[in-house]
Amino acid sequence: MKTLNKPLNNIQMSEIQKTKCLIIGSGPAGYTAAIYAARADMSPVLYQGMQPGGQLTTTNEVENFPGYPEGITGPDMMVQLEAQAKRFETDVRFGFINKVDFSGDVHKCWADDGTEIHADTVIISTGASAKYLGLESEQKYLKMGGGVSACAVCDGFFYRGQETIIVGAGDSACEEAHYLSKLCSKVTMLVRRDEFRASRIMAERVKNTDNIEILFNTDTIEVLGDGQGVTGALVKNNKTGEEKTVNATGFFVAIGHKPNTDIFKGQINLDETGYIEYEQAGTSKTNVAGVFVAGDAADKTYRQAITAAGTGCMAALDAERYLAAKGH
Ligand code: NDP
Repeated sequence: MKTLNKPLNNIQMSEIQKTKCLIIGSGPAGYTAAIYAARADMSPVLYQGMQPGGQLTTTNEVENFPGYPEGITGPDMMVQLEAQAKRFETDVRFGFINKVDFSGDVHKCWADDGTEIHADTVIISTGASAKYLGLESEQKYLKMGGGVSACAVCDGFFYRGQETIIVGAGDSACEEAHYLSKLCSKVTMLVRRDEFRASRIMAERVKNTDNIEILFNTDTIEVLGDGQGVTGALVKNNKTGEEKTVNATGFFVAIGHKPNTDIFKGQINLDETGYIEYEQAGTSKTNVAGVFVAGDAADKTYRQAITAAGTGCMAALDAERYLAAKGH
């Protein structure tokens, strides 16, 4: 169903498209929602977002998703999920939604190319993005592509045989430190407290890797560089006050994520950290009728591919029931 508005002027023309189900985001949550919604004849439209495939495209080996006894790479899994969604004729679109208006019965959303979409139901599966320390020097080398990264799997290749630093002490930091240790001559891990947050198995793996040095109670004061790229970091022991320089050509940050929910501010209920709040526990319902959420945009506890996929399924089923109750 498509209706074309009158041209605003000679060169601009906006198009309003109607859909029963708009899915925003293309991680395991979005694609699973699409598979279920498409098989329920809801003809979903899915916008892939800024990072098609989501965070898993930056993960190397996924060993804990049931059904892959030998493991699978994150990018390969996302290619398969996309193919499965398309097999049932999901309209998968490259692009992102940058504005929404959930004030009416029909949910209005706008894509980056100007397309206006009126959706009976919306499934938000926009996930979360990597956090950075916020140091000026970090941002400088990040923006110039000079050696700061939040994705070891994406960028570790460039530092083969070199020394790298990784900040963080969670499962992500441990996983990425271990990944880097296989490529780099040495990895220095900067942990701000005197213990890991990561699960014991991940922390032990890091501790038992010869070329990973762990500096506990250590903060980054500044990312050091020669103007072209990173040369190391000035770090400080927050117990003793001792400062020292750690040499490295790559500075990796693995300190958690921020939910990608900025466009929903003022439209649906978010908690103080920006995660979308469920209206009703055990469902995917938000406080706006017809708008559902799946995956990391609402999950600060589990944040796993399998839990994202599970909530994607829930969101599609909830959307289908919502439409049925409205007589669609
Ligand atoms: P987490 O929130 O679990 O950990 C973030 C880490 O970064 C913490 O150790 C935190 O320190 C540290 N940190 C935060 N801010 C700063 C800062 N400004 N300076 C220095 N250090 C900082 O995030 P993760 O991304 O590691 O994990 C997210 C979720 O995903 C978790 O539930 C995790 O279990 C899961 N996960 C599972 C994996 C797997 O099972 N294969 C792989 C990766 C993630 P502090 O501890 O002091 O707060």
